[in-house]
Amino acid sequence: MAKYDVAIIGSGPGGYVAAIRAGELGLKTVVVEKDPYLGGTCLHVGCIPTKVLLHHADVYDHIKNGAELGFEINGVKVNWTNVMSRKSKIVTKHAKGIEFLFKKNKVEWVQGWGKYDGPGRVSVEKDGKTSTIEANNILLVSGSEARSLPGIEPDHKTILTNRSILELPDIPKTLIVVGAGAVGVEFASIYNSFGTQVTILEALPRMVPVEDEEISLELEKAYKKKGINVFTGCAVDGVKKDAKGVTVSFKDKDGKAQTLQAEKLLLAVGRKAMTDNCGLEKSKAKLERGFVHVNEVMETAEPGLFAIGDIVAGMPQLAHAAMMEGIVAVTHIAGKPTHKILKTRVPNCTYCEPQIGSIGLTEKQAKEAGYSVKTGKFPFVGNSKATILGNHGGFIKVVSDEKYGEVLGIHIIGPYATEILSEAAAVLHLEGTIDDMMNMMHAHPTVWEAMGDGFASVRGLQINV
Ligand SMILES: Cc1cc2nc3c(=O)[nH]c(=O)nc-3n(C[C@H](O)[C@H](O)[C@H](O)COP(=O)(O)OP(=O)(O)OC[C@H]3O[C@@H](n4cnc5c(N)ncnc54)[C@H](O)[C@@H]3O)c2cc1C
Repeated sequence: MAKYDVAIIGSGPGGYVAAIRAGELGLKTVVVEKDPYLGGTCLHVGCIPTKVLLHHADVYDHIKNGAELGFEINGVKVNWTNVMSRKSKIVTKHAKGIEFLFKKNKVEWVQGWGKYDGPGRVSVEKDGKTSTIEANNILLVSGSEARSLPGIEPDHKTILTNRSILELPDIPKTLIVVGAGAVGVEFASIYNSFGTQVTILEALPRMVPVEDEEISLELEKAYKKKGINVFTGCAVDGVKKDAKGVTVSFKDKDGKAQTLQAEKLLLAVGRKAMTDNCGLEKSKAKLERGFVHVNEVMETAEPGLFAIGDIVAGMPQLAHAAMMEGIVAVTHIAGKPTHKILKTRVPNCTYCEPQIGSIGLTEKQAKEAGYSVKTGKFPFVGNSKATILGNHGGFIKVVSDEKYGEVLGIHIIGPYATEILSEAAAVLHLEGTIDDMMNMMHAHPTVWEAMGDGFASVRGLQINV
């Protein structure tokens, strides 16, 4: 029985990044993963495959709009099998990449179901056999799975989750997406580009409900313009499968009963923590609806047991949040100084078309937090690079504190939103002000320079509108 400094259950972005950093810091580390490959939800059925498909959809949109760019393009056909196979190749390449990085950093990994088995012990079950790993510190990074709605169970043929929709043999003619969070709107965007008639059903009053209200309104406007049907504030009350696909019954926001028929239905109604059967009952860890409470260094109420990633209570379920949480935990374990993760400094990216990138407080949250709020807004219609790209819908909204000009939040919808958000993340991380940022030079012509106009718009000093 080998003794380790760190044992990590789960090899998603929280687990593999923690393992690599632990290796770099000289900690003897082992990862337990139930699947025969490394990378978790993010690499196999989340961030990466969806972004591959979004990229393909984007290229296809450019081809369809070729005439506007002066190209005569005829007879373009989507070879879906090839699209799916490129997606799989990228996933496999990166899974091998993690194996390489493990070797490079002397991280060991074993396949099997890992369970906390009391202080300093992890049990690993594989093919009916159980072994034990001893480790001074244990990180539970078991991730999340798609939630379903009462009475609507995915069959992965007609009623799909993020897993099964990534394996469709053909592009469906019609698709109903239940849920307008990041996962739902990304798949809606992908299939809309490939010609599927998409309908979104969202229970809350607006799409992407965690975003600033103006972003939600802009997205709904853009989606309707693209021909996506959007119903918000509606309650799905039944799904029936038939030979043609599914029939969904729901009450719309006025309480009127409606039904819709489609070939496929995607459930995108949130993600539950995978903490069952992980041995937490043997610990003092505090759970809330399956999510685990942790302190500033990600340690649970059970000394030596840490929780990271999608299973953590009160943190957004995002790959980069999981990665940073893992780094904080192993840095602390290595006895080095670390930093507290603030929820308001976690960037949120939704890679639909138009893209959304946001960080910090929304206008409403800033007001509720007692700030004297001053906002500015710059539309991409005033940005020359956006015009060159033929993509000048949307805007940058800056939320600031009137007193000192501190930047509190930035909300972007439009071209390259998920890339130019990097400046927003830096200014919040460094606690910059509107004046710092509007005096910083932004290169011309870039989409990024719209950020300069966005900051200046808080003072009414934007140049390009
Ligand atoms: C469709 C979709 C798109 C997404 N896109 C993005 C995006 O663009 N950007 C972003 O930041 N986030 C995105 N996310 C969210 C992101 O995937 C998650 O936040 C991230 O994967 C969480 O990482 P994790 O390490 O906590 O868990 P996971 O990635 O879920 O990994 C957990 C791992 O633990 C393993 N495991 C579970 N239980 C056990 C056990 N008992 N023993 C051994 N192994 C176990 C699992 O097999 C898995 O490999 C997306 C999610 C989905 C569903």
